[in-house]
Amino acid sequence: MSDITQLRNDFPTLKQTIEGHPLVYLDSGATSQKPQTVIDAINRFYAKNNANVHRGLHTLSEKATFNYEKVREKMANFLHVNATEIVWTSGATESINLVAAGLTQNLSQNDIILITALEHHANIVPWQQLALRTKAKLEVIPVNEQGCIETTQAISKITQLKPKIFACSHASNTLGNIQEVEKLIAKAKEFGAITLIDGAQAFLHLRPNLRQLDCDFYVLSAHKALGPTGLGVLYGKYDALNALPVYKTGGEMIETVSFDKTTFRQAPAKFEPGTPNISAVLGFGAALDYLEAIDFGALHQYEQDLYQYLIQKLQSIEGIKIYGDLKHNIGTASFTYKNEHHYDLAMLLNSYGIAARSGHHCTQPLMQTLNLNGTIRVSLAFYNNKADIDRFISALHECIALLE
Ligand code: PLP
Repeated sequence: MSDITQLRNDFPTLKQTIEGHPLVYLDSGATSQKPQTVIDAINRFYAKNNANVHRGLHTLSEKATFNYEKVREKMANFLHVNATEIVWTSGATESINLVAAGLTQNLSQNDIILITALEHHANIVPWQQLALRTKAKLEVIPVNEQGCIETTQAISKITQLKPKIFACSHASNTLGNIQEVEKLIAKAKEFGAITLIDGAQAFLHLRPNLRQLDCDFYVLSAHKALGPTGLGVLYGKYDALNALPVYKTGGEMIETVSFDKTTFRQAPAKFEPGTPNISAVLGFGAALDYLEAIDFGALHQYEQDLYQYLIQKLQSIEGIKIYGDLKHNIGTASFTYKNEHHYDLAMLLNSYGIAARSGHHCTQPLMQTLNLNGTIRVSLAFYNNKADIDRFISALHECIALLE
């Protein structure tokens, strides 16, 4: 346990003051902070090793290609899949768009695309657009008054609707709820559905085994898992991935080009035209190494204990209402205080050095369901500690006193 409390020292951004107070970073759901090794890997590439990949025979280019492809293997090992099933994208958003665009030919009028009421806009709008293109129907599994998906209800909805596509987040970005995706995927597959899981929030906290989950597609963003921005992952079962048509076109993803006809390579190259985000991939490789070196069982327990500490402290403040599943959670607490506006509270918290997020968190439909205009969201990572939470709670008390 003591090792984990030392890990925050590896994150240079955490060692600063904001508005004269030590920074308390509670916005890892928006983006995680980066350990020094990730920053060093990016610097090293530009300072010493910069070259394009897959193009040159010279030493630097070969080295860049080797290191770049090595990270694909690392990612694949991390997720328990094959390297040929990992596509680099610009983020979870692009990964979902790539799949949704590619499934256009799979749908006919009145086919069902099934999602849930707590999805991030990135896992709603691409499906909505797909439904518009194909005249398919977008259907939604509802949440209960706490904002949770009840698995039994979700399973009966899947049984009733027999969707062609089922897309669901592994963990909610707004509430932190962990969905029982394994059960939902299994049920959706009984009806032949293509399944996509949005792991943008879950990846860092749950380390999913994708062979076990057995979904067709799984997406994530590097920047939410200690890596740089501008890089995402699309995992697809090899056949499911190759069955998708090309998305963006250009150099490197082709086999042959003539003015009459172009033929394309197989996945993953088929989906990676142009010069990729090499430095981000190398930086993410360092992030994966960093994560691999930590005992995941201990880390998970640490995060869960910290989260329960947070919840207990929040619940002790009269007038605070916390939403979501407080038992099966990645460590995110979304709350309101009486009728105070979330924006005012977040602004005040910032003046105490507390970085929390306020708003609808790109989940407007969820907010509508919960009859809220927004919440304050506190999202933890393993580099937080009890002192962060104590500082936050003490600042929250002072902010509340100012508002009353
Ligand atoms: N899905 C979820 C659950 C998210 O939380 C986010 C980002 O907040 C996304 C998708 C989109 O990720 P990105 O903006 O990195 O593409």
